Parts: sequence; structure tokens; C-alpha cells
Amino acid sequence: MMNRQKSFENPAAPALFLVPTPIGNLQEVSPRARAALEEADVIACEDTRNSGQLLKTLDIRKPLIAHHEYNASASSKGILKLLEEGKKVAVISDAGYPLISDPGSELVREAVQAGFAVVPVSGPNAALDALVASGLDPVHFMFYGFLDAKSTKRLRELEGLKSFPYTMIFYEAPHRIDKMLEDMKTVFGDRRICLARELTKLHEEFLRGTISEILEVCTDLKGEMVVVVEGCSLEDEKTLDEVVDMAMQLAAEGMKPKAAAAKACQDSGFSKNEVYQEMMRRKDKE
Ligand code: SAM
Repeated sequence: MMNRQKSFENPAAPALFLVPTPIGNLQEVSPRARAALEEADVIACEDTRNSGQLLKTLDIRKPLIAHHEYNASASSKGILKLLEEGKKVAVISDAGYPLISDPGSELVREAVQAGFAVVPVSGPNAALDALVASGLDPVHFMFYGFLDAKSTKRLRELEGLKSFPYTMIFYEAPHRIDKMLEDMKTVFGDRRICLARELTKLHEEFLRGTISEILEVCTDLKGEMVVVVEGCSLEDEKTLDEVVDMAMQLAAEGMKPKAAAAKACQDSGFSKNEVYQEMMRRKDKE
């Protein structure tokens, strides 16, 4: 079921704030990051001594809890409990953005699943804000940016990306979002995505679900948008042979070959044409 988060609809609600800290220059703590840390009931950090020092420099005094790669599961459960109690929790890492080669992904996934808002507090780059709060795997990812505006070219670009096994991040204009997602569904199958819009603005929203679920609502969506898409799952991937076997079976049962190719290729990542051509090659060989 789709998870729809309007980040600032209920300011009093418990939430998980993902707050980047400077990678070097302490002057790069934004006023909003400072406010998020000041307003948090608890700050989860990798190393309480290291972050304690930073927070002391910033003159922020808050209870700290350790959330690092060796206790991520146990501490995620503790943090979820705090959210259930109505608390606001800020997550920081030793330096930079949490989740980017740093802990936090399991916690974000579980917080999203439990229905809590996960809010990125950054500002300089829409792609990273969307990725860290998407609930999708942030370990390896590719920033793609805009796909071509024309469907024929866009489909070709997507064909080239359909086997990419890691999370992908796209930018898209609101008047093209439905066509772009239709093309993505045709080529990638009905993958899980997160559409993040109006990031860090009043109407910031995250829609997390399958492409079909987001397509049902996306014509009403306005504003600036990022689409984060899960990579190709190698385990679930059908081979072309398997898809063609299925299409041949459907054709043998009486379906027209093109219709059989279209049906069999659904959610496979292969295009109707690829499957149809392979069917014709097999027929020629018979
Ligand atoms: N340099 C910018 C960055 O670092 O994110 C991106 C510039 S690009 C020309 C503009 C696109 O970025 C928009 O069409 C949208 O896809 C994305 N974008 C920029 N601001 C955004 C926001 N607040 N929320 C969602 N997407 C945003």
C-alpha cells in the first residue's frame, strides 16, 4: 500500500529528522539544521563522544543515543519506541549526511513502515534529500538527473538502465511525471519508487509505493519532483528465455503472438519487441 507523507502537515507529530553535520567546516551548520537539533527530544548519533563535542560547540544540550553500524538493529527498535511515545528524534552521523556510507538506512526503512514521517534537513541538493528519506536502499546509487523529454528517446534511455542493480535518482518536471512513470513502468516493470516533491518547502511530500500506485495520484501533483527508483533485483529477474517460453506457451494456447509477447513481458524488464523477435527467431528455427 502506498505510503504518503506530508512532512509538515502536523508539526506536533513525532518524526525522524535526518540532519547532516559539516564534513569539515563548522560554519556549514545551517540555521534549520541547528533548529532541528534544538527541537529534537533525542539525538541519535554514531559516536556520542564525537557528536557530544560538536553539539557542545553548537551549545546544544540533548540526550544522545548511540546508533552505529554495530547496534543498528537494536537501536532502531529503541528509536521506534521513542517515536511511538511521541518524541522527535534527530539522526546525525560523525560527519556529513546520515545514510550516505553511514548508518541509518534500517532505521529509516522501519520508521517509514511504521508510518512515521522521515524528514531530510538539508537543502543544497534535492537528489540526496530524496534518497535518504526514500526508504529505498541508499548504499549504492546512481544520480541520473533528467531523462529525455521525448518518449521514444526516454524509452531508449530506460532500456539502458533496466538492469542497473542499484537505486537510481531522477529529476522530472511535474507536467511530464505521468508520462515518465508510464514509460518507466513499461521498461522496468512495476518497481518500488519514492516520489519526493517540494523538498524542504511547506508542501514537502513523499509518496512511497509501486509505480502503479504513484501513477494513480500523480496527475494531481505539482511542484518540483525527484523520483527515486529501486534497482533491478537480480534474484527476481526472469531471463529472456523464461519470458519467451511463457509467451510461446500463451501463443500455443491461442493468443496472438504480439499479444502473448506483451503479456509475458509484463514486469520482466524485457520489451514486447525483444520478446516478440525472439519468438519469431525460435519459430524460424523450428
Ligand atoms: N542543482 C539542483 C540540485 O542540486 O538539486 C537541481 C537543479 S535542476 C535544474 C531542477 C530539478 O531539481 C527540478 O526539476 C527537480 O526535479 C529537482 N528539484 C530541485 N529542487 C527541488 C525540490 N525542492 N524538491 C524536489 N525536487 C527538486
